[in-house]
Amino acid sequence: MPSQLEVENVTVAFGGRRALDGVDLRAEPGRVTGLIGPNGAGKSTLFDVISGLRKPVNGSVALDGREITKLGPARRARLGMSRTFQRLELFGRLSVRDNLLVAAEMGPDRKVASAVVDGLLDRLDLRAIADTTADALSTGMGRLVEVGRALAARPSILLLDEPAAGQDREETERFSALLRTVADDGVAVLLVEHDMELVMEVCDTVHVLDLGKILSVGTPDEVRSDERVITAYLGA
Ligand code: ADP
Ligand code: MG
Repeated sequence: MPSQLEVENVTVAFGGRRALDGVDLRAEPGRVTGLIGPNGAGKSTLFDVISGLRKPVNGSVALDGREITKLGPARRARLGMSRTFQRLELFGRLSVRDNLLVAAEMGPDRKVASAVVDGLLDRLDLRAIADTTADALSTGMGRLVEVGRALAARPSILLLDEPAAGQDREETERFSALLRTVADDGVAVLLVEHDMELVMEVCDTVHVLDLGKILSVGTPDEVRSDERVITAYLGA
């Protein structure tokens, strides 16, 4: 069940300051959409608005043409939305397998949960550490398991907040290939990431956020050569 996400004119204020100011964004099924920008730009806040954890003072979020701005996070999850957090949120004392199982059991069909977990252990190459407890994992592996948990719910739209932070080069490369296969299955993937090599390699479209506003939207090549983006984020 593919899902198109449309964010329109979203504004969020903390105190008097606008963390997001009239943000538009679109993410399409089968595509990896990047969201980049300096620390404090508002990327995680936008994820909170999209996933229903924070209500915007203005603007709307729609999934497949249906407005969901007023729905809570659980309702959005049932509509096929799944996300990871910038800070890892794994169950530290549970094994990798059980972390995935808890998430799979919240998915659309409980009866297939263990089969879904089995498939994910193979797909993410986690078999060798299936019985390792989450708090014994490296940050990079923990991030991979976190992505596995988001996939266990079998989402149609997947929001990833800095999933490659703490991953080494080899982990990032495997992760990049995985993201492509997730998109190829028809999932709309929205990726917040600082690893520019990963962003440029895997994203179909990139949105650049700076000081709560969209500065630029385009293909990785278009965005990379945009003077405003170079000045605000990429550096000379
Ligand atoms: P990013 O993920 O791009 O680094 P954030 O969305 O985390 O940025 O933050 C955007 C801005 O909003 C920052 O200035 C941050 O300090 C502020 N901010 C984020 N969350 C809160 C909050 N709960 N209360 C007050 N200010 C916040
Ligand atoms: Mg953030």
